[in-house]
Amino acid sequence: MISNKMAREINAQINREFFSAFLYLAMANDAADKGFNGTARWMTLQFEEEQEHALKFAKYVQDQGHKVVLDAMEAPKTEWSGILEMFEDALLHEKKVTAWINDLYTLALEEKDYATQSMLKWFIDEQVEEEANCNEAISALQHVAGSANGTYMMDRQFGKRQGD
Ligand code: MG
Repeated sequence: MISNKMAREINAQINREFFSAFLYLAMANDAADKGFNGTARWMTLQFEEEQEHALKFAKYVQDQGHKVVLDAMEAPKTEWSGILEMFEDALLHEKKVTAWINDLYTLALEEKDYATQSMLKWFIDEQVEEEANCNEAISALQHVAGSANGTYMMDRQFGKRQGD
């Protein structure tokens, strides 16, 4: 059984994971609107992944005998200047998520909550991958900066992303 405080903090993280999903879906929508169908696919897969993160946290809260409580979400941004700015925003957002997960881990250490520490390790590793994926896309797009052809080719590349 985890503490009420820990359950509350993980509930907050569930909402943030759903917001992440919402943000990536907004990016997918804007990418599709601008004809970047590969990026739209990439962002849609990420939207699905974020929902899985939320549900993974939710199952943990329930397995630990607490109730999952959903909260209102802020509206995501809906317009980006291009796909480079989109991936830059995604990276900034993932860095925030990494910091929140680190805060949860710090709390789990303080509470000597070994089960939550163990559960969080998957997310700590996942965040390394999320940041690396964004960094990779950003540096690829920076290499073709200003070139419409290059950006188009990169968009096609992003569209080859496989689901998990
Ligand atoms: Mg996530």
